[in-house]
Amino acid sequence: MRPRIVAGNWKMQGSQAFVLELLTALQSYDGWNDEVEAIVFPPFPYLLSTQDLLEKTPIAWGAQTLSEFSNGAYTGEVSASMLTDCGCEYVLVGHSERRQLFGESSAQVAAKFVAAKQAGLIPILCVGETLAEREADRTLSVVTEQLQAVLAQPGGIELFETAVIAYEPVWAIGTGLTATPAQAQSVHHEIRHLLAIQDSTIAQQCPILYGGSVKPSNATELFKESDIDGGLIGGAALKAEDFIAIYRGALA
Ligand code: PEP
Repeated sequence: MRPRIVAGNWKMQGSQAFVLELLTALQSYDGWNDEVEAIVFPPFPYLLSTQDLLEKTPIAWGAQTLSEFSNGAYTGEVSASMLTDCGCEYVLVGHSERRQLFGESSAQVAAKFVAAKQAGLIPILCVGETLAEREADRTLSVVTEQLQAVLAQPGGIELFETAVIAYEPVWAIGTGLTATPAQAQSVHHEIRHLLAIQDSTIAQQCPILYGGSVKPSNATELFKESDIDGGLIGGAALKAEDFIAIYRGALA
């Protein structure tokens, strides 16, 4: 069976006090279960306090992005080995906000994905179309291009042996609009098919998460779909009770 995952992307939000409060609330929940992995993605400055607070819990943590370079004169950047040094197991790669607001190309995202793998991190590759692209019937071609950029790297499909994909339609992120379970399932199915063309075993093993305004009220229905293996959660991950309720939806 494929691993199921519920991951919280905190984006550029929080403070030391906020991190302590949220993680303390998550720590005190006793329903974390091996069946579904819980992961939090705090901003960089809070990774070490996250490590302190979560080290002895089943909750994993990771960073929201990383540099494609391993070290050197790259002011402001954070390398993959720095993330493993802070206990990170996962890293988000190619979130649509990175692609759209910071100009990350699919080639750069692919280089980051490879840098993460080389350091032993598990990358969560985010893919997804804008509203204009969906309306122009380009969803599949956009997602395919984003995925192919990684598949074209040395290692190809084997890079996905230990990796996660998150399908996040840009029009659903932070907007309150959610893809219907059927809409999401259809894209997840296509993504798995793209992987299966190259290796059906890897395609069956690779978790594909849905992201885009997942809430306690819609999580269970989304997670029931056969190719949806959990969620990448933004806004709702900032409230312990909502994150936990979504997590419980993945257990159901
Ligand atoms: C995200 O940032 O990855 C996300 C899905 O955000 P939200 O849940 O707030 O739409």
